[in-house]
Amino acid sequence: MNIEALRRDFPILSRTIYNKPLIYLDNTATTETPRQVVDTIQSMYFTHKANVHRGVHTLSQEATDMMETTRRQVAAYIGAPSHEEVIFTRGTTEAINLVAASYGELLREGDEIILTVMEHHSNIVPWQLLRTRRGVVIKVVPLRADRSTLNLDVYRELFTPRTRVVAVTHVSNVLGTINPVAEMIHIAHQHGAVALIDGAQAIAHLPVDVGALDADFYAFSSHKMYGPCGVGILYGKRELLEEMPPYQGGGEMIQSVSFEHTTFAELPFKFEAGTPDFVDIAALNTALAFMSEVGIEEIARHEEELLRYTTERLRAIHGLEIYGTAPNKSAIISFLLRGAHHYDTGMLLDKLGIAVRTGHHCAQPLMHALGIDGTVRASFALYNTFSECDQFVAALERVASMLI
Ligand code: PLP
Repeated sequence: MNIEALRRDFPILSRTIYNKPLIYLDNTATTETPRQVVDTIQSMYFTHKANVHRGVHTLSQEATDMMETTRRQVAAYIGAPSHEEVIFTRGTTEAINLVAASYGELLREGDEIILTVMEHHSNIVPWQLLRTRRGVVIKVVPLRADRSTLNLDVYRELFTPRTRVVAVTHVSNVLGTINPVAEMIHIAHQHGAVALIDGAQAIAHLPVDVGALDADFYAFSSHKMYGPCGVGILYGKRELLEEMPPYQGGGEMIQSVSFEHTTFAELPFKFEAGTPDFVDIAALNTALAFMSEVGIEEIARHEEELLRYTTERLRAIHGLEIYGTAPNKSAIISFLLRGAHHYDTGMLLDKLGIAVRTGHHCAQPLMHALGIDGTVRASFALYNTFSECDQFVAALERVASMLI
C-alpha cells in the first residue's frame, strides 16, 4: 500500500489549518473523498444526467445502468445473495428508520427489541418512536466490567418468547469495540428474533460479509467509506423485505395506481419512493472500486498498526485516560485528559492543525454508562500515516502541558 500515492488522490489532505498541515483524524464522522469519486459526480452531471428507470432515451438508460451497476457491486462487496436485497437510502440513519418503521408494522404491543448500551442515537431513537406508536418494549445489553465490551451473558438472559428484534452496532463509534455480531445474530436466531446490524463504522474498516454473518438487515453510509454524502444502503433478506410494507409512498415504488387500489413494485423498488440520488449512487461505485483496489484486508491491517502504535504512545502521556480497551478494536481512540474539558482539548488540537471530534458522539446513553459527558475522539483511515500519529501525540503532549 503506497500511502503517499493514495494521499495524492485526496486534495483536502494538502490543506493547511492555522498554517499547519491538516491532520485529519475525524474519520469516524466522515471519511474524505478521493478525486475519482468527485470526477464521477462531475461526469454524471456533465455527461449522463437524466432521471432513472422511466426513460427510453439514451441518457436515462445510461444513468439507470450506472445506478444499477452500483447496486450489483454493493451486493457483491458485502456478500449479499442478490442485488434485489440492496436498497438505496440516504444513509445509515434512514436505513434503520426504514426497518423500525416498516418491520415495526409487523410487531405488536409487548413485543421486545434488544439494543445495546453502545448504540449510536440513530439505532436508538427510531426504536423509541416505534415504542411510542406500537407499545413495544426496549431492553438494553450493558457493558462488562471492562467498560469496553458487551456483556453477552446478560444479552442471553434478555431473550423471552416476545423478543422479535436485536439491533446492534458492528463497531462502536466511541469505543472502537468490534462486537461479536456473528455470535449475537446466531443467538438471536435461536430465539426466533431478527438481527439488524449497524455497519456504519465497519464497512470501510473490516471485511463485511452479510451472508456469512447471516445478518437479517445490515445498514451503512457511503460518506463513511470514501463515497459521496447522501447515500446509504440497507441490505435485507428477501423474505423479510417481501413481508414488510412500504416505508414511503410515491413514484418508482408502485406497479399500478388508482384511487381505489395501488399495487407495489417488486424489490428493491418497493422501498425506493421518488427520484433516488442516482448521481451519488453512481459515485459510490467509484468509491467501492477505490477501496477494492487497495483491498479491505490491507486497509484493516494498516489501520490496526496505526491504532497499536498511537495507543502505545498515548499511554505514555501523564493524565491521559483511554475509553475503549477491547482486544478486538477498530482504529478509534476516545480519551480524556484528566481535569481538562474535551472541548478545550479539541480546540487546542485544532489550532495545531489536528481535526479530532469532541462531545458525546451521538451516544449519550454510553456516556452515561461511562460516567462522563464526552470524550475526545481520534479515528483513522487508510490515508493516515505514522508521521501524522507522531505529530498528533506531540501536539497532545503540548496540549496536556497547557491544560493539566
Ligand atoms: N451508526 C453509527 C455507529 C455511526 O457512527 C453513525 C454516524 O456516525 C451512524 C450510525 C449514522 O450515520 P449517518 O449519519 O451517516 O446516517
